[in-house]
Amino acid sequence: MDDLSDADLERYARHVILDEIGEDGQVALLQSKVCIVGAGGLGSPVLMYLAAAGIGRIGLVDFDTVDRTNLQRQIAHTEDSVGTSKVESAVARARALNPTIAIEALETKLDAENIQSVIAPYDLVVDGTDNYAIRILLNDACFFAKKPLVSASVVRFEGQLSTFRAYEGGACYRCVFPEAPAEGVVARCDTAGILGPVAGVMGTLQATEVIKQILGLGTGMVGRLMLYDALDNDMRMIKTPKNPACPLCGDKPVILRPGG
Ligand SMILES: [Zn+2]
Repeated sequence: MDDLSDADLERYARHVILDEIGEDGQVALLQSKVCIVGAGGLGSPVLMYLAAAGIGRIGLVDFDTVDRTNLQRQIAHTEDSVGTSKVESAVARARALNPTIAIEALETKLDAENIQSVIAPYDLVVDGTDNYAIRILLNDACFFAKKPLVSASVVRFEGQLSTFRAYEGGACYRCVFPEAPAEGVVARCDTAGILGPVAGVMGTLQATEVIKQILGLGTGMVGRLMLYDALDNDMRMIKTPKNPACPLCGDKPVILRPGG
C-alpha cells in the first residue's frame, strides 16, 4: 500500500492516530471515490466532511441554483452564491477546505438514461435528494452496478438513515419504501419545513456511515433504518428485512434496468 506524503500525514493526523484507521485506512480513503447526489441540506455536510476526511475523488450531482431559502440549512452555500449553480457553489467551498483531492461538479438532472454512466466512476453513492423517483433510480442503478447506497432523508424535526447493499443480500430501498408517497401526503422540506440543524445531524451521520462503509468499521446501517426525532432527542433502529416480493431484488425480479 502507498505511503502518505508528509503533507497528508499532517492534514489527516487525527485520523491516522486512530488505531481503527491508521495510515493504511487514510490511504484507503484517499483511494476511494464517492458520488454525492444532491447539494442541499444533506449534501452540504456530507460534501464538507468527506472532502475534509480526504475521500480522494468526490462527484457532486445537482441541477438546481441556490435560492435564499436554502441558506437556513444548506451550509455549503453562501449569500454570494444565491442565483448561481448549486454544484459550483458547493464544490468551490469544498475545494477551499481541501484543495488536495479531486472534486467534480456534475451539473446534471439524473434520469433513467444517464444514471448508470453518472455513477459508474465511483465506488459508493450517497443519496441526499428529496425526490422519490430519483431515490428509486439511484436504488436500482446502485443495485445493478453493485455499489453501496448510503441514503438519508429529513423533514420537519425528523431524519432517517440506512445503507443498501441488496446485491449482497439485505433490503433495497424499494423493499423498505415500496410505494411513492401520494401527492400532497408526502411531507417535503419546501412545504412542511425543516429545522436546519436536523439536516446537519443526518448529513453528518451519513458522512460517518460512508467512511465506515469504505473502511469496514464497526456496525453499518445495512438491514437497519435509523429514525431520529430531534424534538424528543430520540434515535431508534428498526430492522429492514428484504421483501421477497420486491420487483428489483426479490425472488421474481421484474425490473431489469434502473427505473424500468
Ligand atoms: Zn428490494
